[in-house]
Amino acid sequence: MIGVLAAALVLFLAFTELAIAPEPKDPFRIPGKVIGIDPGHGGIDGGANDRKGFMEKDIVLDVTRRLRVLLVRQGATVIVTRDADIELTDLGEEDEESEEVRDLQGRMKIINRARPAVFLSLHINASLSSSACGGMVFYKAGCEESKRLAQAIQEELWRLQPYNQRGIDTANFHVLRNSKSPAVLVEMAFISNPLEYRLLATPSYRQMLAEALANGILAYFKGK
Ligand SMILES: [Zn+2]
Repeated sequence: MIGVLAAALVLFLAFTELAIAPEPKDPFRIPGKVIGIDPGHGGIDGGANDRKGFMEKDIVLDVTRRLRVLLVRQGATVIVTRDADIELTDLGEEDEESEEVRDLQGRMKIINRARPAVFLSLHINASLSSSACGGMVFYKAGCEESKRLAQAIQEELWRLQPYNQRGIDTANFHVLRNSKSPAVLVEMAFISNPLEYRLLATPSYRQMLAEALANGILAYFKGK
């Protein structure tokens, strides 16, 4: 009987979830806040992939679009570095020889021009070891606000990925080093891990990732 009741409750909750558009669970809002989001890679640069056409560049763009909807709903203004499958090499410095660096320069030109309150670069990880799993957040070294944002987002990733044993760390990435705003780079999960691969392939999980990021950003502003 308890089993039946529990099943009924699960069903009820599932339908309630479906009936209500997913929203960050906190009523706290961030009107007027400008938030920069960079879906990593794009165009000729697919990023991490499964060699069958499932690519990091597409996953992070999808999560970015979902995250933008959630943040705009909270009153924020969202600036994205790309909203299509393109690279941003044309916006980089002409004298820079590396296409990769020109692409990153282009992204940071868009972000630093907008001077967002916070900046997130979104990525999917890959490892030669298929057991590697769990999202992690890198932050701009020496920037307390970046660290606080990283921690707030990591806590939401832990909530979504209870098995996740990773944490936050500093990294000397171009997009962190050159950001004028508090900045984090989020590696949301591993495409090389069979479980996370299956999850990343589902729109509902990508929505959950977007919600985790939105909740982390809200928690960061709430703590200010
Ligand atoms: Zn990446």
